[in-house]
Amino acid sequence: MAGLAAAARARELGAEVTVYEKGDRPGGSMLLSSGFVWRYRDWDRFRAECPAGDPVLQRVVWDGLDDALAWLESLHAPVLARETGNSLTSGVRFDPPGLTKALAGRAAEIRLRQPLRALPEGQPVVLATGGFQGSAALVERHITTEARNLVLRANPWSSGDGLRLALGSGAELSAGMDEFYGRNLAAAPDISAGDFVPLAQVYARYATVENVHGERYEARSWSEIDVVQWTARQPGARARYVVPDAALGKPVRERTVAEVIEAAGRAGAPVQRRSGSTSVDVVAGITTTLGGIKIDARARASEGVYAAGADTGGISTGGWASALASALVFGKLAAEEALS
Ligand SMILES: Cc1cc2nc3c(=O)[nH]c(=O)nc-3n(C[C@H](O)[C@H](O)[C@H](O)COP(=O)(O)OP(=O)(O)OC[C@H]3O[C@@H](n4cnc5c(N)ncnc54)[C@H](O)[C@@H]3O)c2cc1C
Repeated sequence: MAGLAAAARARELGAEVTVYEKGDRPGGSMLLSSGFVWRYRDWDRFRAECPAGDPVLQRVVWDGLDDALAWLESLHAPVLARETGNSLTSGVRFDPPGLTKALAGRAAEIRLRQPLRALPEGQPVVLATGGFQGSAALVERHITTEARNLVLRANPWSSGDGLRLALGSGAELSAGMDEFYGRNLAAAPDISAGDFVPLAQVYARYATVENVHGERYEARSWSEIDVVQWTARQPGARARYVVPDAALGKPVRERTVAEVIEAAGRAGAPVQRRSGSTSVDVVAGITTTLGGIKIDARARASEGVYAAGADTGGISTGGWASALASALVFGKLAAEEALS
C-alpha cells in the first residue's frame, strides 16, 4: 500500500519515479487483505486503544485519513462498503485487487523481482517494504523466541529490508519493536494465503484460552491483538480455545462461532467436541510488525530518507489501528515531503 500510494502521488505531482518491487506482483499484503481502511471515530478512543503510540504520528493519520480516502476514490479504487461493521471505527472497505490495480496503474513502471538493496545516492527515497515479519531471525530478535513456529500471514517478501537500509542511513528504531498485528489461525496442517481470513479464529472473548500447560489468558482487546501476541510467546506459538456450547451461535463478522469452527475442522485443525464445549487448537499468525523505523510527522527517517507503512513503527503501539490507513496517509505524505 504505502509504496504504491507514494509512487502514485509523486507522479501526480510531476516527478519521475522508479518503483522497486521484490515480489513477483505488485500489492504486497494489501492485495491479500480484507481491504478495510479505517480509523477510530473518536480521537480519545484512538489514544486509549493505542496508548503508547506517538500522538503526533497518530494525529497525522487520524486527521489525514478522510482526505486520503477521497484521493483513493478519485483514482477509481473500487469501494465495497462505506462502513466497517464496527461501531468504534469509520472507514471504507476497498476491493483489494481493484485497489492494487488503481494504484499500480499510476505508479510508473514497477520493476518486479528487483528488491531495493541500497539507497540511491543524491535522490530522495521512500522506504515501504512492509515490515519485518518475513524474517524469522528479526522476529526472534525483537518479538518471540517461538518465531520459527509462527505462521506467516502476509506476503512472503517483507523481511526487514527497509528497516536495515534506514538504520544504515542513521535512522532510529521506533517504540513497540516487540509488537505485531496478526490472527490466531486454526492449526491446520497446510495454511496458504487463501486461508488467512477463513481460518482466522477471532472469538477468544467467548472462549477459555490456554496453552499446552493449561495456563490461561483472558482476551482484553476488541481486536484480540493481545491474544495473538500472547499465543506467539507460548510453547509452539500455540493455544487451545475451549468454547462453551452457549457461545457457538455468537457472530464473528458474517459467520457464527460454530461456522468458523467447522471451517477449522474441515481444514484438518484439531477440533474436539465434548459435552458442553468444543475445543480448537490455534497457532499464532503474524501479519504486520508494529515497530520499525522511527519517523517524524513528515515521514522523515533520516536525511533524504522517508519511510511509510509497516516499515515504520510507533503509531499503534500498545494496541491496534488500521495498518492500511497509516500506510496510505504516510505513503502519500512521504511523496509530497520528498518533493517539497
Ligand atoms: C489476510 C490479511 C487481512 C488484512 N486485512 C486488513 C484490513 O482489513 N485493514 C488493515 O488496515 N490492514 C489489514 N491487513 C494488514 C495490511 O494489509 C498490511 O499491514 C499493509 O498492507 C501494510 O502496508 P505496507 O505498504 O507497509 O506493506 P505491503 O502492502 O505488504 O507492501 C510492501 C511491499 O514491499 C515489497 N518489498 C519488500 N521488500 C522489498 C525490497 N527490498 N525492495 C522492494 N520491494 C520490497 C513487498 O513485496 C510488498 O509488495 C491485512 C493483512 C492480511 C494478510
